[in-house]
Amino acid sequence: MQQYFYLKKEDLGDLLSEINKSHALFIPSKKDDDYIYLSFSQLQPEEIIYSIYRGVEPIKSFLTHSREIVNEYFQSFDSSAEAKPIAVFGVKNCDLSSLTLQDFVFEQGIEADPIYKKRRENLLIISSDCTGFKKTCFCLAVGNKPYPEKNFDINLSPINNGFVVEVGSSKGETLIRRLSQYFTAATTGQIAGSKIKRDNVVNDLSQHLASVNMPPKDALQKNVREGYESGVWKEQMLTCVECGACNFICPSCHCFLLADDMRENKSRRIRIWDSCLYANYSRVAGGANPLNTRAKRLRNRFMKKFDFFPDNLGQFGCTGCGRCIEACPAKIDIREVLKALAKK
Ligand code: SF4
Ligand code: SF4
Repeated sequence: MQQYFYLKKEDLGDLLSEINKSHALFIPSKKDDDYIYLSFSQLQPEEIIYSIYRGVEPIKSFLTHSREIVNEYFQSFDSSAEAKPIAVFGVKNCDLSSLTLQDFVFEQGIEADPIYKKRRENLLIISSDCTGFKKTCFCLAVGNKPYPEKNFDINLSPINNGFVVEVGSSKGETLIRRLSQYFTAATTGQIAGSKIKRDNVVNDLSQHLASVNMPPKDALQKNVREGYESGVWKEQMLTCVECGACNFICPSCHCFLLADDMRENKSRRIRIWDSCLYANYSRVAGGANPLNTRAKRLRNRFMKKFDFFPDNLGQFGCTGCGRCIEACPAKIDIREVLKALAKK
């Protein structure tokens, strides 16, 4: 099947409305300077917009929930509220890139997580290019582009009066076939136009990152490794209040806790997102805690993101989305930690 199509701007709402008939569709809605995902069914036609940059919620929120009963959920999967598959519109590349990490953890180990696997198979991803960026975005500094390259079903790249639509998977191909009335073959001029827009965003973001003074991507792993004994971890963590916000908002973080309890004479197993910056994150039953200081916990976080993942997966465990910078009440900025390590 052909890979590039054209969608008229005025047809976007109708296309999403059609997708919402077969899926529970979520789309970004503008709130001040942010985009929050809302159910398509909650929105008025004039509220259907194209998001310029990534939303507040990471895409992992659609795949593992912050707190959920996992044994009962799986037993009743087919009759659950999720029987209608989820579709997400406006997913940006920092989130698509995080899916490679989430898939590695939840699907590619000794056992695949059955809940994650089912949700991932069912998830329809309609991604889109970033046409701007937040001051906190730094995807280019960790090797990601501000436009999708993989892990999407279809991708929308805006051009003057519409979108170049790229097909990224067989699921995307099926969607285009089913709703073929909205698509025509994209011309080479339209494809070239979308590439020019992409290049412009890359140039603007590169200039922004040069002004922020980010260390070179190829030095990040070495800086983190060589900074193992440095005082940076302690200095940076003086203000941390161990709220876990940086982990929970991060599209790449994936640690969780399992707990059992009884409710109405039925046992339940609950899965809860965990935070590697919590004091008890690594405490074992006997009371020993190898990560017993905030400095050690921050170092562990960076070792995993900038040393373990490049070695094991060929990409950083940070996609440069900048969400943790905005979420941290203590104003701890991942870019400043990386810059401080580069100076040591
Ligand atoms: S560590 Fe921060 S910037 Fe990197 S992916 Fe996670 S939330 Fe985004
Ligand atoms: S968001 Fe900030 S204060 Fe909260 S755990 Fe993370 S680094 Fe600490």
